[in-house]
Amino acid sequence: MRPHMLKTTIAGSLPKPAWLAKPESLWAPWLLDGSALHQGKQDAVVLALRDQEDAGIDIVTDGEQTRRHFVWGFVEQIDGIDFSRMVTIGIRADRYRADVPTVVGPLSRRGTIHGDEARFARAHTRRSLKWTMPGPMTVVDTIYDAHYRSRERLGLEVARLLNEEARELAALGVDVIQFDEPAFNVYMDEVRDWGIAALDRAVEGLSCRTAVHICYGYGIKANIDWKNTLGGEWRQYEQTFPQLARSRIGGVSIECANSRVPMSLIGLLDGKDVLVGAIDVATSEVETPAQVAAVIRAALDHVTPERLYPCTNCGMVPLPRVVARAKLQALGAGAELVRRDLSR
Ligand code: ZN
Repeated sequence: MRPHMLKTTIAGSLPKPAWLAKPESLWAPWLLDGSALHQGKQDAVVLALRDQEDAGIDIVTDGEQTRRHFVWGFVEQIDGIDFSRMVTIGIRADRYRADVPTVVGPLSRRGTIHGDEARFARAHTRRSLKWTMPGPMTVVDTIYDAHYRSRERLGLEVARLLNEEARELAALGVDVIQFDEPAFNVYMDEVRDWGIAALDRAVEGLSCRTAVHICYGYGIKANIDWKNTLGGEWRQYEQTFPQLARSRIGGVSIECANSRVPMSLIGLLDGKDVLVGAIDVATSEVETPAQVAAVIRAALDHVTPERLYPCTNCGMVPLPRVVARAKLQALGAGAELVRRDLSR
């Protein structure tokens, strides 16, 4: 078998154990506090790592077990953002409303944000470790700005802080840094005007591999309703992929399972790693390995097996835990089916 072929990974999040946070919800409050919360998060990380290893996932994450929400994990540790001033705004072009904190002054990191968590995860798996953080534009879209008064200026500041953090994580042995940019499928003009530049700033000088995750959102009702308005073919990627192909980012994580994205668009990502979503996170129906393999095979018409990473469409945090586990197994088994074919 050729090395580095069809390495599997996940978008990032996994459901949390029922003793740690309320299951099947986003922004779920913690059910523990103090040192019990700290220990509970660590135990959950170990379980998330084991579940991925058992399923044959090659590039694992901490399942985002230590953060309430994929944006908050980073933002909560930034000076200049006031969580006592929550404002309700429409996010992702008003697709849903969220209570978000306010930017009240210049942004800076208080210190390491994910360092301890990354060190812990690194010490508990021998697999390649991926670390996810929200991308600059998605952060900008999930906070209320009362200071910079410019999404671009705020975005570039956020990118600078993300880059500082990412450099530290790479030095701790993180193999892949991934920025999550669902906003890239929403604000196409802003992606062109400053989004790619901010992403490039975030990955500047990184010694590890990098990726950006661009999806159509978690499998929640607001997103499913939105997808139903996007027509027979989803062509948002068609605008961003040529720009990403020219950017510094190493790879792109995209939604392919049960999506209306024409697979041929992958060809626009010439030379980049492609993390192909072969697991649908919007349904509790578990894919068969054969279904996963079919998505991977379709993608192989447009990217080499060395650059193709079978993945999930998005994070699995809102799913029942038993379903997420079964989907991990299907992902591992589906990739193995194709690998066996290719090594014949
Ligand atoms: Zn996603």
